[in-house]
Amino acid sequence: MRTLIRKCNYCKIYTMDEICPKCGNKTVMAIPMRYSPADKFQKYRLRLIKDDENGKNNY
Ligand SMILES: [Zn+2]
Repeated sequence: MRTLIRKCNYCKIYTMDEICPKCGNKTVMAIPMRYSPADKFQKYRLRLIKDDENGKNNY
């Protein structure tokens, strides 16, 4: 099951809407508590950091 859980940082509530139904602010992606793809995200993050460093070196 692929569920996109989003969270409003202002109200601290979870929703599936891109816009918080309570305050109207944009929600951000939230990682489901039971299923944690932390390793995957970490890999992407490390790659992003590496790319960033490479970009700086090129300058
Ligand atoms: Zn909100």
